[in-house]
Amino acid sequence: MTYFELEGKVALITGASSGIGAHFAKTLAKQGCIVAIAARRVERLAALAEEIANDGGRAILAPMDVTQRDGIEKALDDIEAQVGPVEILVNNAGMAGRFPFLTAPEDETDQVVAVNLTAVWDVAQLVSQRLVAAKKSGSIINISSITGLRAVGGAASYAMTKAAVAHMTRLQALELSRYGIRVNAIAPGYFMTELTEDFLSTSAGEALRNRVPMKRIGNLEELDGLLLLLSSDRSSFMTGTVVPVDGGHLLSSL
Ligand code: NDP
Repeated sequence: MTYFELEGKVALITGASSGIGAHFAKTLAKQGCIVAIAARRVERLAALAEEIANDGGRAILAPMDVTQRDGIEKALDDIEAQVGPVEILVNNAGMAGRFPFLTAPEDETDQVVAVNLTAVWDVAQLVSQRLVAAKKSGSIINISSITGLRAVGGAASYAMTKAAVAHMTRLQALELSRYGIRVNAIAPGYFMTELTEDFLSTSAGEALRNRVPMKRIGNLEELDGLLLLLSSDRSSFMTGTVVPVDGGHLLSSL
């Protein structure tokens, strides 16, 4: 047994076809979780499942568009039939919103809200309902952002949804404690993924690195300690928290 004692736990990771989600799936699989990996790009999920299997882990595919509630339900049915109910949810799927408030196009704002907010609510609600029905405890980890904790220019819809996810986390924690379901959020600073690579390679991205007290962006492995802590019963008295992992970025201007 490892310190986190996650062997055999069923973990659903949304947004697992790239970036933070793919990394988290590998991290949880290495600790012995059965990982259900979700996203729309199925070929990427298949490649990740193979990588995890080659490394001695177990992954099952859970293709879904998180904006389609019926599709989430079907994927949860499939997971449950194969390995049992989801006990750990990493509610990670997300997209960037690239416009300032004044000029943000309506269709992009709607899509950002659908993916980053409504879908986070829907996946957590459907997983929670199944846990309550099965009388099982669980841990939900929502992925917020430091842009949801302080005002930042240029990505208003994105930051708004991440602030809402932070508060949703507190509301879910309050309601779900009585069922043994803990809900916490990780608020990452800046990490290099497909979501951020365009911005981080500009001069504005370089300037941003210099505003981080540690003068750098994060490495994905630097999120692992908190992920494993929140996933496991080692954090059994933690719920409703929103924990930044940002090299001190919140101490400086975003
Ligand atoms: P990526 O762009 O690398 O990954 C985003 C993931 O979300 C992909 O797997 C994508 O899969 C999935 N996704 C997007 N839309 C949908 C949809 N409609 N249905 C299902 N899946 C969807 O970004 P990151 O890894 O950087 O982001 C992961 C999370 O971390 C996001 O919530 C992001 O906001 C947050 N975050 C990231 C930070 C960073 O610096 N990178 C900082 C703070 C927070 P597919 O397209 O295959 O469906």
